[in-house]
This record gives sequence, structure tokens and C-alpha cells, in this order.
Amino acid sequence: MSDRDVIILGGGIAGIAAAVHLLKRGIKPTLIERRPFLGGRAFSFVDRISGEEIDNGQHVILGVCHQFLDLLEDLGTRDQMDLRPTLDVPVSMNGITSNLRASRVFGNAAALLNYRHLRLSNRISIIRLLFKIKLNLISRNESKRLRTMSFGHWLSSQGQSSVAIERFWSLFILPVFNCAIDEVTALDGLQFTRSALLGSVRDAAIGYPKMGLSSLIGTPATEFLGSRGTELITNTRVISVARCESGQFEVGLSDDETLRSGNVISALAPNALNSVLPSSDATFDAVKNSLTTLDYSPIVAVHLWYEKPVMSVPVMAFLDLGLQWVFNDSVIRDRSSDGPQHIVVSLSGADSWASLRKEEVLERISSAMQRAFRAAPGNKLINSAVVKTLEATIKVNPSSQDHRLDADVDIAGLHIAGDWTNTGLPATMEGAVKSGRLAADLALKRLST
Ligand SMILES: Cc1cc2nc3c(=O)[nH]c(=O)nc-3n(C[C@H](O)[C@H](O)[C@H](O)COP(=O)(O)OP(=O)(O)OC[C@H]3O[C@@H](n4cnc5c(N)ncnc54)[C@H](O)[C@@H]3O)c2cc1C
Repeated sequence: MSDRDVIILGGGIAGIAAAVHLLKRGIKPTLIERRPFLGGRAFSFVDRISGEEIDNGQHVILGVCHQFLDLLEDLGTRDQMDLRPTLDVPVSMNGITSNLRASRVFGNAAALLNYRHLRLSNRISIIRLLFKIKLNLISRNESKRLRTMSFGHWLSSQGQSSVAIERFWSLFILPVFNCAIDEVTALDGLQFTRSALLGSVRDAAIGYPKMGLSSLIGTPATEFLGSRGTELITNTRVISVARCESGQFEVGLSDDETLRSGNVISALAPNALNSVLPSSDATFDAVKNSLTTLDYSPIVAVHLWYEKPVMSVPVMAFLDLGLQWVFNDSVIRDRSSDGPQHIVVSLSGADSWASLRKEEVLERISSAMQRAFRAAPGNKLINSAVVKTLEATIKVNPSSQDHRLDADVDIAGLHIAGDWTNTGLPATMEGAVKSGRLAADLALKRLST
């Protein structure tokens, strides 16, 4: 049993970001991942019928995701992220499409000026509230309640009509938080509004990968980490983490090996971390209590291949038909032609979808597509895949406020990362990168003392 400087548990985006951060500062970590590949919840696989590399679910970023973009820069795949210059999304309802289009000169609020799905009075009331948030004109009393109330509730209390909430605010909150607006904590909803919607026009712009997620993240990360001296142990589960009398940690692996280090970064999801921490050591009780208190929210991705093109734009949002966000993978990945078109319908906060059989999901979504796109009826569906991820992200709801753990959990040498930790961000790839870096900084600090 030899000592390692830092052991990282889990090779998702948080674990990768922690490892990259350490390597760039001269520390060669050991990273353990249970699967044969890195990337965690952001991965792709080859679809048997089309032969295409498809994602477990469409992953989108906003321009404000600077730390994730930095990570791609390190991995050499930044140019494979298509980040639009400004927010510009066609939104459809009742067969009418209206774009939410920011102005380079007048900013993101200008997107509302021509947004036809809302009456002028609603648009003005949203713009007024955006300015109130921007100027931080939120009273002390209100501020106190932001941790305990939902964003939807808070918006109503600020005079936002249910139509404005449904047709503007939810459009962003549901996919970003993977959770209904009536569940998301007001504090987090406001934080997101400030950083993305009230940031620069580039901050609110949408970006999507032009290649499969594994090609974007997992594969180049394996290459980056491996070639710079990270000890990469894949296909191996962490089965236990225990503290020994020396204050070091012993990490037990599924191949019966035990590794030892004074610095362990957990980049595992809450359930996975809970299952490897000992129940017999009271030091971990508070951490374990938080890990079991968080709630999860599913995402359902529906992949559809039409014989001929159905849509021309890369992305479209829907306020009706249950479609939420529809991505044109063929256009996004520059495979546009008259031939088959690959569409991905992404359903967030998908509790009701996740409980349906896959055939039922497919049937409902393809019939909604027929009503949504003129070119869909009569256009043969030649292939499909439904991917359900039940624990896609945690719910950033009021009860998560006290249970999203800090990187520093007051257990010397144990540092916690993962999109679900207390980053101040939604549970996203950006949050995962931020958390990995924060945990790595704590390990570096400890190594230097
Ligand atoms: C369908 C879907 C769509 C999404 N869409 C978006 C989006 O549009 N934009 C966005 O920003 N985010 C999106 N997300 C969220 C994003 O994928 C996550 O925020 C991010 O991938 C989390 O990374 P992580 O490293 O924190 O956790 P994980 O990816 O869960 O990493 C944990 C790692 O630990 C490994 N592991 C587990 N147990 C063990 C063990 N015992 N031993 C060793 N290894 C173990 C796992 O295999 C995994 O690789 C989406 C997620 C899903 C599922």
C-alpha cells in the first residue's frame, strides 16, 4: 500500500476538472472511475442503427459558463463548442413562432421587445423586474425569505403573472435547473437571472457541442490526464473510504487493492459517496445525513431520425405540445443534407415522462412533433431512441439549501466536489467544473502546509 498525493474518486466532469487543476499546479493525482471511460453523466455512445455517436442527453451551456469553457480549452476541444454570439431562440406556441432575440446594443432585456407570446403589459412588467433585480432593489425582508421560498412563488409576489412566468421565466429555469420553477429556490433563480440574463449579451447566449459528449470531454480528458502523469484507474469501483489513525484515508477498490492518501477529493454523486463512507465512524454522520436528504430530478432524451429534414434551425423551444426544447443534431453537427435528420427532444424536470414506458414516450413525442412541424407528417421515422436518466441532477429546491455540501466538510483531508455541492450554481457542467477546482485548491493548500 503506497501513499498517493491526492486521490480523486470519480471521473465525471468534477473529477476531471480537479485532476486538470492539480496537474497544472504540479501535482499528479490518482483518479478512480468505475466505468471504462471518463465523463460521468455527460457521455455519448454509438447508436447501433444510425452508427452515429449520440449523447445520453442534449447538453447545453450558456456563455456565462466560463469555467467549463476553460476546461474545454485545456482539453483542446473548445472549438467544438458552438457558442452563439447572443441569445436568439425561436419560441413556438399555437403554431406561431416568435424569437427571443437579444440586442448587442440594448442587451438581453431587449429580447422581450418583440416577443409576441406575451402581451406588452407582461413584457414591461418583466423588464421592470429585471431592472429591480439588476439594481438589487430587493428589500431585506424579502432577501431573508429567498432561501425558503420557490422562485415561482417569489416571481408571483413581485407581480409577475402566471402567463409571464410560464412563457418567459420557466423557459430558462426548467432546463437550467432541471426542476419546475415552483420548486427551484428563489435565491438560486435570482442568482441565475443576475449572472446569465443580466450579464453581457454573450453570457445569455446558448452553446451546444458540435460533437458527441465523449469526444468533447471524456476521451480528450483521458488523453490529457494520462499523458501528463495522472494515475488513471478505470473500470474499478471505490468500495470504501475510511480514516486511519494517522489521519490518512484508506480507499478500498473493487479489485481488492487499497490506496492511501492524506488528501481525498470525492467527485462522486451523493448516493455513490454515501455508499462508500463508513456508517461506523460518527465523523461522517453529518455528511451522510446531507447526502441522503437531497432529491433528484430526471431528464428524458428522445432521439428521432426522420427520413427527410423536419426543421431547419438548430434549436427551437416550445411552450405547448409538451415538447420543451427541440435540437436539430444534424444541423448542430454540420451533417445537414437532404438525407435523414437527427432530432433530439430534451425533457427536463421529467418526473411524469420518466414513469412512462419508452414506447409510450416515443408515441407521445412523435405525435407532438407531427403537430409542431409541417414537414413531420408523412415523413418516415426511420430510427429512435429514448434515454431516461432518473437521477439526472439534484433538485435545487429549498430543502437542498442546507444539504448541498461545501468543498470543505470539516473532515481534514476530505474535499467534496460534484455538480450537487454548494457552488452557488445550478447542478450543471459549469457547477461541476467549479466544484472540482474548489476541492483541488483545498487539497493543494493542505499539501503546501
Ligand atoms: C440527460 C442529461 C442532460 C443534461 N443536460 C445538461 C445541460 O444541458 N447542461 C449542463 O450544464 N448540464 C447538464 N446535465 C448535467 C451534467 O451532466 C452534470 O452536471 C455533470 O455531468 C455532473 O458531473 P459530476 O462530475 O459532478 O458528476 P458525475 O458525472 O455523476 O460523475 C461522478 C463519476 O463517479 C463515478 N462513480 C460513481 N460511483 C463510483 C464508485 N463507487 N467508484 C468510482 N467511480 C464512481 C461515475 O461513474 C461518474 O463518472 C445533464 C445531465 C443529464 C443526465
